[in-house]
Amino acid sequence: MKIPFDNSYATLPPRMFTAMTPAPVAQPQIITTNAGLAAALGIDGIDTAEATQIFAGNSVPDGAAPLAQAYAGHQFGNWNPQLGDGRAILLGEVIGTNGIRRDIQLKGSGPTPYSRGGDGRAWIGPVMREYLVSEAMHAMGVPTTRALAAVTTGENVYREEILPGAIITRVAQSHIRVGTFQFFAARGDMQALQALTDHVIARHYPDATGPAELLDAVIANYAKLIAKWMSLGFIHGVMNTDNVSIAGETIDYGPCAFMDAFHPDTVFSAIDQYGRYAYSNQPGIGAWNMAQFATALIPLMPDRDAAIDDFTAAVHRFPPLYEQAWLANFGAKLGLATPTDDDQKLVTDLLDLMTKDGADFTNTFAALGQHNARDQFINRDAFDAWQARWQARGPDAALMTASNPKIIPRNHRVEEAISAGRNGDLAAFHNLLAAVTQPYAPLTDATAAYARPPTEDEKVTRTFCGT
Ligand code: AMP
Ligand code: MG
Repeated sequence: MKIPFDNSYATLPPRMFTAMTPAPVAQPQIITTNAGLAAALGIDGIDTAEATQIFAGNSVPDGAAPLAQAYAGHQFGNWNPQLGDGRAILLGEVIGTNGIRRDIQLKGSGPTPYSRGGDGRAWIGPVMREYLVSEAMHAMGVPTTRALAAVTTGENVYREEILPGAIITRVAQSHIRVGTFQFFAARGDMQALQALTDHVIARHYPDATGPAELLDAVIANYAKLIAKWMSLGFIHGVMNTDNVSIAGETIDYGPCAFMDAFHPDTVFSAIDQYGRYAYSNQPGIGAWNMAQFATALIPLMPDRDAAIDDFTAAVHRFPPLYEQAWLANFGAKLGLATPTDDDQKLVTDLLDLMTKDGADFTNTFAALGQHNARDQFINRDAFDAWQARWQARGPDAALMTASNPKIIPRNHRVEEAISAGRNGDLAAFHNLLAAVTQPYAPLTDATAAYARPPTEDEKVTRTFCGT
């Protein structure tokens, strides 16, 4: 396999990472590879035996500069000064055919100095979940990390039970997080903080002239990202500052899930006891995370008091930016290309009806374009009254088809793929992957079942980081 590496993070001050190679595994076998993504990255030969060894961490490809990155973060609001790539190794970077630089990282590749007692490994469950959900998110036009390959390791991983080990090869615009900035800010390491800032501006935000403009640009991207999540019923589940990508991509698919029946208080993550990262809390947490980013940038500013005022104002621009993106997204879902302020109420009234009746989020919006959304409701008179208001707005059917996915990686389907995968049967994973990467295609006999909500027995109400 040839990977055209062009590494830049490895040239930053050495204390920002630990140069090291992945730990080899016993007997790697391919789960799947992503030919389209490989082509977009200019990578040849992903289906060779040599590639399998590379995706397993057993061999380091020519031109790689493998390393584990240091970072910190607020986890569920609590400060943790020392996190980092505890189970991941950055192989290096490539500049894709679109000119965008991207990281290639192995996740589940063995312990690092940042493992904090963990084994550095992953089992097939979280690897399959990340692969399915990140590729589905990409297909739905959401900025996200991607999946290039997944392998099983031929080794066991010990959690509460014995599980088959696996490694995912993740591609991201970078793996730099809010927590990466926090790591150096907290240590008062101005040189590293400045080097990181310069690196991020050159790499992701070349139009920014300094920390203030960087902050504005990150806030704008993050507000749009969370509005996208909301418009798809996506719940990230661990919006810790170490899981917030500075490039504005969705990253770290742990206990994430899509809602079936709509309710704003929905939480899936078993560790999110108080619902900090519930669906409806995501925008508020987004602003909170941007406040932490702003705080980490303040030490770079010559006039601290003035910077606090300016950066506070910047963080306060998050909510209106989010609201604007939210209205644009939900407007499009209703077929309204230029939604007005009144349309905001049209959307929230529909969401209220959906909440009361437990309507399926994805199918209700998909059905609006096919004139059978009424079936999704119990109180049909209330829906009819809403529909009359909506129809008066003259919705555009083509816009709705392009804005409402028919197939999402529903939790019970993801769990089904994982259960089979644990026992060595990959068919359910492959079929689901094929379906969720064509989210807007008309349903066929082969895909219709993936649009069906779970039955009472199939419902999955809890998800786990399951690292
Ligand atoms: P997460 O909540 O998945 O984003 O992970 C938080 C932190 O825990 C990161 O620093 C991870 O690298 C680390 N971590 C998670 N799982 C493991 C593991 N199995 N071994 C070592 N470190 C881990
Ligand atoms: Mg993380």
